This record gives sequence, structure tokens and C-alpha cells, in this order.
Amino acid sequence: MSLGPTLHPRCHPLVERLLAQDSGVIRWAAQGSVNVLLPQVFAENLERLREVLRKVDHRIFFAHKANRAPVFVTAAERAGIGVDVASEAELRTALQAGINHGRLEGSGPKSGEFVRTLVDSDIVLNVDSVWELVRAAQRARSLRRPARVLLRCSSSTPGRTSRFGMDEEAYRQAIGLVLADPDHLDLLGLSFHLDSVDLGERLGCLARVLTRFEDLHRLGLSPRVLNAGGGLPQVFLREPGDFDTYTNALRAGLIGAGPALTWNGTGLGYQVRDGVVQGVPVVQKFANRVTAAEELERTLTAPLPGQGGRSLARVLEDTMLQLWLEPGKALLDGAGVTVAGVQSVSVAGPHRLVVLNLGRDRLSPADQEFFVDPVLIGAHASGVVAEGVFLAGNLCLERDMITHRKVFLPRAPEPGDVLAFVNTAAYQMDLSAAPALGHPLLPKLEVVFSGQGFTATPEGADHGRV
Ligand SMILES: *Cc1c(COP(=O)(O)O)cnc(C)c1O
Repeated sequence: MSLGPTLHPRCHPLVERLLAQDSGVIRWAAQGSVNVLLPQVFAENLERLREVLRKVDHRIFFAHKANRAPVFVTAAERAGIGVDVASEAELRTALQAGINHGRLEGSGPKSGEFVRTLVDSDIVLNVDSVWELVRAAQRARSLRRPARVLLRCSSSTPGRTSRFGMDEEAYRQAIGLVLADPDHLDLLGLSFHLDSVDLGERLGCLARVLTRFEDLHRLGLSPRVLNAGGGLPQVFLREPGDFDTYTNALRAGLIGAGPALTWNGTGLGYQVRDGVVQGVPVVQKFANRVTAAEELERTLTAPLPGQGGRSLARVLEDTMLQLWLEPGKALLDGAGVTVAGVQSVSVAGPHRLVVLNLGRDRLSPADQEFFVDPVLIGAHASGVVAEGVFLAGNLCLERDMITHRKVFLPRAPEPGDVLAFVNTAAYQMDLSAAPALGHPLLPKLEVVFSGQGFTATPEGADHGRV
């Protein structure tokens, strides 16, 4: 009998194997908590994208910002792709991993110093504003050679303004600067990045940016790169229907048509008005069922608006533009697991609380919710699901809840149990993590499978085994 809806994680076979055996990684985690990183999964994700891109002239840059760990930058280096760096620190990590300047690209909001560093090192600048372009040109003049630049176009839509990229007016100014100083500004091409995984939005953006290439040719410029940024999705859940089953139950609970599933009645983005549930949940990304490779295939083959029915693949071939992609989360999909121990259990009013040995920020930015159930290590799926529990963090703060929703596990967790949160490498495990209350950041373990078993190397160590 099932007492509540579940959200089983989609696990890569390596992760499945790691969690199934009583490995040293799990024993380590029982004492503290740890982030496990699997560069082999990263490499497989990359191969899937390359397979889709085999007929397209392209370059791939891993967007480093999705995870701080050098492990994945090293994986990018070994696989022969580039890295997109968004800070001086990320640039240092990439250089230390052996990525040479020609395989790097600098994105994001840049300080004057960062612009200068990029120009000095002849690294492609994905220019975000006129201010950055002016600084890049100044530096290039003093070096007497061109700065290689992409102009990032705004991906704002009528209902939603993006803080990044140049709008019409800024873009016109930027083109004016490029035309005025061709010896110091080498315009490689145009870029955009969508903070959305919506195919329609991506096709619309591609179509708008492609129109600008036609204008650039008329002005006598010869751009050769179309950089479509990141935004390829991840798949978190094993059973595609689980998302709807859980959110339906959650909504029913909000209006009293079923048991309440959330902490203190929070709607996780849903709102109740006049007895009706409205809005979009903050966990929408966990609903996705389309893999990054499938999404990329669709992006390449769907007819583009305003291109006479031509697909992106066809337009790239016709225009001889090289496609650049900057996947972050797509390469990290399934490539990280956050393992935590159960510290204690308690009762709060009608609820059972399971307190873990890590804080909420190790798993989720504050405004989001990790909408995947953890795996309770050693508990075999019996079809019987225990009463739902809330997972709480180890910070002495009322808001330090790991989940604001009830989690239904195969049995009730007890102190000393180990829970594994699967698929946390992208933006989950360290984007918001801070050493609050003096709790250290979670150690990271690089885990590699070799046929004989798993080898785990703590981050920063040259080699080792646990
Ligand atoms: C964050 C970011 C990316 C990576 O985005 P994902 O959605 O993780 O693929 C790529 N390019 C730019 C400019 C970014 O800011």
C-alpha cells in the first residue's frame, strides 16, 4: 500500500551501482555528508550531444558556473571541448586544468579587470554591454591587436526582460563601435543565452539573431559564429508521470481535497484564490521529460520562424556559420549525488521530522525546492511506502528545511541512515552553499568506475582511495 506520492530519481547505471553496494563512499557519508562527482557521466552526456551535432560545424564550451569543481573542467579538457568562464576564479581553474586560451570564452557580467585579462590573453569575449565593448577596444588599442568578440543579444521577450545582453539600442551602438574600429574589434559573431528550456522561445531567439547576421553582411562585416548559449534541459525523474501525480496531490492538499503535503501550507509557487489553485510551481524544471540530446535534435531540425521553413541545421549549412553551444546543466545531468546522513528524528506537531547532517543551501537555492526523493540507502523497494516525513537541515534556523514537502520513503528513516540525493551537480550542490554556523562546505569526491569497482578521490588530492 502506498501512503503518498513518490518522486523517484532517474539514475545513471553508475549511480545505481554506487548506491546499491555498501561502498566506502556511503560509509564516509554516514559520518558527515559529501558531494559525489562522476566525470564519466559528464563524458557520456557530452557524447550524446556530439552524436546529434555530427553533421553540424560546431564547438562546445562547458559553462563552468554550473559547478565549482575542477573535476568537470578537467573532464572537458580531456574530451577536447572548451570552457565558458564567468569570473577570474573560473578562468584560473580552467587554465590550471590545462585548457589553452583558444578553447576558452569569457561570459557574464565582467569587471574592467576581467575584460582586460580576457583581451590580454586573447580569449574570446562574449560581450554583454556597450561598456564592456568600449573597455575591450581600449585595451586592444594599447596592445595594437584586435580583441575577439561576440556580441550578446538580449533574449528579452515582450513579457519578460532579461538583465543580460544588448537590446536594440545598445546593439546598434555596439555595431557602430565595431565598424569604427575594425583593427581592434574582431566581431566573431553574435550570441544569446536563454534562461529557459522552452523550445519555442529558443527558436524565436535564433530566428531574431539570424536576421541580424544578414544586416551585418550588408554592412560589410563577416561574422562566422552563432553562439546559442546553454539552456538544454535535464531529466530528474525516473517515472515521467510522477511529477503530475505529486503536484496534483499537492494541489488537492492546498484546498483540503486531500491530505496536506506541504510545510505550513506553503504552495511551492501555487496560490489558492477563491478555493482554486493557480500559478506555476517553483519546481517546474523537475517536470521535464525531454533529454538534452533530444532537445538539441529538435532545435536543429524544427522549422525556424521567418526562415521559409528552413531548420537551424539547414541555415547553418547555407550560411556557413559555426554553431557554438555553452551547455552547463545538460553536461552535468546525473553527474553528481549529494549524500547525507540522518542525524536525528523528531516530532513537530502532527509531523515527523528527519534531521539531516547538512543545511538546505547544500541542496537548493533558498527560493527553490529539490523536487526529487532521496534514495534511502539499504532500504529495498517493497512497494510499501512509509508515512511521509519532512526533511530538515542542521542549521539552527526555522527556515532550514531541506524539503517543504512530505517525502514518502520505503521505510521510516532512523539516525545513522544514509540518504542520497541524485542529480545535484548542476546548480544544486554549490551555487548557494555557504559555511553558515561554521559548518564546513561539503567535501567533494571524484568517483570513477573502472570495472573492478569505484575509486574515490577527494577534491584537491592527487590520488587516493576511500
Ligand atoms: C549559465 C549560462 C550558461 C549555461 O546554462 P545552462 O542552462 O546550465 O546550460 C551558458 N551560457 C551563459 C552565458 C550562461 O550565463
